[in-house]
Amino acid sequence: MSHHIAYDHQCPDCQAWYVPYDVTVPCPQCGLVEKERFDFVRYAAGLLRTNLRKYHSYSPPAWYVGSYSDHLASLLFMIFEAHRVANPPCSFEEMAREIVNRLEWRDQEYGKDYLYQLALRVHAELEKRMEEDAAEPAVSWWRRLLGRFGRSRR
Ligand SMILES: [Zn+2]
Repeated sequence: MSHHIAYDHQCPDCQAWYVPYDVTVPCPQCGLVEKERFDFVRYAAGLLRTNLRKYHSYSPPAWYVGSYSDHLASLLFMIFEAHRVANPPCSFEEMAREIVNRLEWRDQEYGKDYLYQLALRVHAELEKRMEEDAAEPAVSWWRRLLGRFGRSRR
């Protein structure tokens, strides 16, 4: 999997930056519903899962922002990691709302609720994936681990 999401998109009507990640997601600034779709949620959940496994943190040590999707991903990493290490623990919704409110939006105020909704959507997807991982039979885990070991030695 690519470690970056090379997807940029602007609303054709109002030029707002956003990613149309679901069929029900309109432009957050003008409300236009486009035909354009990009499966950002699946990508983002995959990145978060990989980060946690590789770095034991949702935030990778370095992340190059080369697209608007990369920018969104970096904000999601921050929200997920802050929630993971929160002390005392709080709900994901609470943490997402707090961080989104604290960010500087300037002329992109429309991004505020957009990012909040996106974070919740990615959170639900990630939980689903984690459950699938946990339900995987142990034997296939071993096989995969051995396969990875073999590859890395070549
Ligand atoms: Zn628009």
